[in-house]
Amino acid sequence: MVVFYINHQGHKMGDNVEVVLSVGELLERANRNIVRGADEPKVIGDIAVDDDNGRNADPCTSTGCKWPQSSDGLVYVPYIIANHFTSSELQVIQRGLDSFASVSCIRFVPRYNERDYLSIESRSGCYSYVGRLGYGQTVSLDRSGCIYHNTIQHELLHALGFNHEQTRSDRDNHIRVLWDNIIDDMKYNFDKIATLNQGTPYDYGSVMQYYRTAFSKNGQPTMEPIPDSNVVIGLAREMSQNDIIRLNRLYQCCEYHTNTVLCYSFYATYINL
Ligand SMILES: [Zn+2]
Repeated sequence: MVVFYINHQGHKMGDNVEVVLSVGELLERANRNIVRGADEPKVIGDIAVDDDNGRNADPCTSTGCKWPQSSDGLVYVPYIIANHFTSSELQVIQRGLDSFASVSCIRFVPRYNERDYLSIESRSGCYSYVGRLGYGQTVSLDRSGCIYHNTIQHELLHALGFNHEQTRSDRDNHIRVLWDNIIDDMKYNFDKIATLNQGTPYDYGSVMQYYRTAFSKNGQPTMEPIPDSNVVIGLAREMSQNDIIRLNRLYQCCEYHTNTVLCYSFYATYINL
């Protein structure tokens, strides 16, 4: 299969682009037919949930699941990495962690003794909690199927508080969910969430957008863009410009220039569904 990637403007990128599977395909493939261990959390799609948390309610809206901003304006997110990864796998993971520093105020840093931190492990499939849970929280990057730049960015964005693009509060204006084509017990993956959209538009090229046949029971699309159903969706190879902007806005990142400081303003959109 030949896969093209689209940039944040929705344009197909050239032939010299490295051909790997899209984030949606990778996640679905890695999480298919997974039997999880008794010590693993309940996972919906690739989102881990506590039984105490209603899965539809974005925890950020009520419990403050953002990671705290330091007095220097940066947001330090401590992590530990399990010792079962190979050096080449660690390189890919590190590249994913480091990729946030060049585009935002997020800094993934090795844990010293902080209470709250990410524990990056190869468990069953790719998954993460949404936002900061408190104490150690697993980000599972299964060695078979999840060690790719886009899946790593995707799971880290979950840990920073972001949900899937297709569950956005305003998604019905941008994609049509084709319920009849979805595997019956996978329909909850398309439940809408009262997301914090940060004033950014719906983005088919978001690294949080699933592929058009995600959770399909018959190979037919489970979602299609409105109004042009042929628009490419869910083929992000890395964070899109909108992913980056909303990350900067959620965390109120600032850019420091010689004579000026440019700060992203916070204008969250709360919508009760
Ligand atoms: Zn996900």
